[in-house]
Amino acid sequence: MPGILILADHDAGIFKSTALELVAKARELGGTVSALAIGTSSGEGLPADLVLTVDGPEFGTFNTEPWVAALAAAVAKVQPDLILATANMVARDVMPRLAARLGVGMAADVVELRAEGGAVVGRRPVYAGKALFDVTVKSSPAIFTARPNSFVPTAGAAPGGVEALVVSVGVVQTTVVETLAPSSNVVDLTEAHLIVSGGRAVKSAEGFDQLIRPLAAAIGASPGASRAAVDAGFCPHGEQVGQTGKVVNPSLYIACGISGAIQHLAGMRTSKVIVAINKDPDAPIFQFASYGIVGDIFTICPMLTEALK
Ligand SMILES: Cc1cc2nc3c(=O)[nH]c(=O)nc-3n(C[C@H](O)[C@H](O)[C@H](O)COP(=O)(O)OP(=O)(O)OC[C@H]3O[C@@H](n4cnc5c(N)ncnc54)[C@H](O)[C@@H]3O)c2cc1C
Repeated sequence: MPGILILADHDAGIFKSTALELVAKARELGGTVSALAIGTSSGEGLPADLVLTVDGPEFGTFNTEPWVAALAAAVAKVQPDLILATANMVARDVMPRLAARLGVGMAADVVELRAEGGAVVGRRPVYAGKALFDVTVKSSPAIFTARPNSFVPTAGAAPGGVEALVVSVGVVQTTVVETLAPSSNVVDLTEAHLIVSGGRAVKSAEGFDQLIRPLAAAIGASPGASRAAVDAGFCPHGEQVGQTGKVVNPSLYIACGISGAIQHLAGMRTSKVIVAINKDPDAPIFQFASYGIVGDIFTICPMLTEALK
C-alpha cells in the first residue's frame, strides 16, 4: 500500500482520537501515511509521516467548497492510493464531492479495513445493520470513510514532518452565516465510547433527566435516546440514535426502556457491548444485548447510578 492520505479531524488544534484511529489503521495497512489538517493546527501530535496543514479565513469554519478544494490540493500533492476519513457529518458532505471531482469510487461507513491481495477491503453494515458486506474500490485513489471507534487509536508517537499547503479556493458560492455550538459539553454521540440511552419508558423530560442523564454522568457517558423519546419531547433530536438519528459505535451502550425496533438498532447495533434494561423479558432488544436486566428502569437506573458512582 504505497500511499495513504487521511483527513485528520481536530478540535482547536488538538487531534481527535478518530484521527489517531485512522493513522493507526493506515500504519497497519502499510505504506506512507500523510494527513491533512484543515483549520488552525500546528500539525503536531499525529504520528503520520507528513502532516499537511491548511489555514486561512476560508478554513476557520467548516464550509464545503474550501474543504473539498483543500482535499483536492492534498491529493494532488501526495498522490495517494487510498484516502481515509472519519464517517461524520463533514465527511458525509465533502468525501462524495471529492470522489466526484477526482472521478474515483468511495465506500462510506466501514467498520473494518484490511489489505488483501494488493487491495483494501472495507466491511460495511447494510440493511440497517442486519448484514455486513465486504467492498473493494477499484479506482485509485480509493476512498473509504470509517465509523468512529472502529479501530484502536495510536497515541504519543513522534510526529513526522509538517508542511503548510497553499490552496487556491476560487469563488466560494456558500457563506456560513452562523455556527451553533452544541448545548452541552458531553462527547458527541457519534464519537462517544460510552452511551446511556433512554426510550419511551422514561415517560417524561423529567424522567429522562432523573434516570438517564445521572446514569450517563456517573460513567462519563453521552446521553442518547430512541425516536419515541425524542418525538415525545423528552430530549433534543441531537440525542436521537438510529436510522433517522445518529449512528453510534461505542464500546458500551446501555439501553434503558428501549424495545429494540429495527430503526433504533440501525444506529447502535455495532456497539461492542450492549446492556439492555427492560421490564419485558421478550423485548427484542434482548436478542442483541450482551447483558440484559429484566426490571423497571425507575428502580434499576438509580441503583446502577449509585453503584457506578
Ligand atoms: C422511517 C422511520 C424511522 C425511524 N427512525 C428511528 C430512529 O432513528 N431511532 C429510533 O429509536 N426509532 C426510530 N423509529 C421508530 C421505531 O420504529 C420505534 O418506534 C422506536 O424506536 C421505539 O422507541 P422505544 O423503544 O423508546 O419505544 P417502545 O417501542 O414503545 O418501547 C418501550 C420499551 O420500554 C419498555 N418499558 C416500558 N416501561 C418500562 C419500565 N418502567 N422499565 C423498563 N422497561 C420499560 C417496554 O417493555 C418497551 O420494550 C423510526 C421509525 C420509522 C418508521
